[in-house]
Amino acid sequence: MKSSVRSKCQCAKSTRSTRKLSPLAWFNDMVSHAYEYAVQAKQDGRRIVGTMCEYTPRELILAAGAVPVCLCGGSYEMSCAAERVLPVNLCPLIKSTYGFSLEKKNPFLEMADLLVAETTCDGKKKMYELLAKRHKMQVLELPQKPDDKDAFIHWVSEINKLKARLESEFGIKITDNDLRSAVRQMNAERALKRELYSLMKSDNPPLTGHDVLVMSNNLIACMPEYHAKCREIIALAKETPCRLKNNDKTRVLLTGVPVPHGAEAVLDIIEDNGAVVVCQENCSGLKPVMEDVVEGGDVIKAIAKKYYHLPCSVMTPNDDRFRLLERLVHDYRPDCIVDLVWRTCITYDVESAQVKELSGRLGLPFLKIEADYSPSDQARLSVRLKALFETATGRKRLSLTPAVAKRLWPGKQAQLQ
Ligand code: SF4
Ligand code: SF4
Repeated sequence: MKSSVRSKCQCAKSTRSTRKLSPLAWFNDMVSHAYEYAVQAKQDGRRIVGTMCEYTPRELILAAGAVPVCLCGGSYEMSCAAERVLPVNLCPLIKSTYGFSLEKKNPFLEMADLLVAETTCDGKKKMYELLAKRHKMQVLELPQKPDDKDAFIHWVSEINKLKARLESEFGIKITDNDLRSAVRQMNAERALKRELYSLMKSDNPPLTGHDVLVMSNNLIACMPEYHAKCREIIALAKETPCRLKNNDKTRVLLTGVPVPHGAEAVLDIIEDNGAVVVCQENCSGLKPVMEDVVEGGDVIKAIAKKYYHLPCSVMTPNDDRFRLLERLVHDYRPDCIVDLVWRTCITYDVESAQVKELSGRLGLPFLKIEADYSPSDQARLSVRLKALFETATGRKRLSLTPAVAKRLWPGKQAQLQ
């Protein structure tokens, strides 16, 4: 008998302890696969380019024949190490990324020929100055008024400067055809990720939010094996019945800050308390893959446009984030919204009031959780999440008609009549 995607990786009591089993196992070893790929690429004469933000246009790096590697840190240990130099009161993502450099513990960073950074939040910008003492870096100045035409013209000129830097640094010429080919590769990767996320629209999602996060954090863009493994998971999920009982769980839409590789425990805190994260709106989720680069026309402008549309909280105003949230609520039908803010992230913290207001308008219970990467956050967050899920479940039951209840929870129909 065929088994579902997740049930192959699952025993009755624990989902996390069996994640090493096939077919999700490949994704759990993402760091090793990415490392082997990067080492081989280096041996083949390709350059490694480190990225630290979703505003970085991977297409330019691929068109330069180089390998784009995400360097965002999700390690608590490295975040603590960085406090020797950086303020304690700084976002853990920034501290951890820098801590890896201080400790020389990120092999991708150590082998990088160039880093690409953007002027997003203040903490990142200032950390980049320290990082640039050890690593070659190109900083793109990101204008922060998304509706301003002059701002977009400036962004296009910054993208052109990156192209020129890659050409001079690596002694190459990037043609429009190189860029168009890279656009096709990246559009294909974004389409795969959208399809992967779409599996979670089901009434009984075949994966956990943790699984989807691990699968979407691919570290290196456009590894052919990664695309093949995503296709395998998607096909398996479509052709086999789901044996999970995710339809009993509270459906969560997670928004806010990105969850980099190594910081996945925050998803476990949510999911270990009776919920399933059906949708992640953040930069480690759907936000960067919702829009493709339009093919045809001026390719540099098309790339610039796609990235400039990313609704990060550093933008002002950032209305597109709220339009995106509404659309995702419609598509993924969450029972509540959880807004994750890494401690001291001012922009997402301030924007949280608007997320709360939107949740109220949509009739969804809302919770903002603040955390860093510390394991000590777990007990405090669990209590608050449990309370949220009880409220969300109660509201769901109250609003159910017997017909809908019969479809979702056949055994519980009598309770609702
Ligand atoms: S949240 Fe903003 S700063 Fe962070 S990765 Fe996304 S776009 Fe970049
Ligand atoms: S989470 Fe906030 S403070 Fe941290 S890097 Fe992203 S935007 Fe900056």
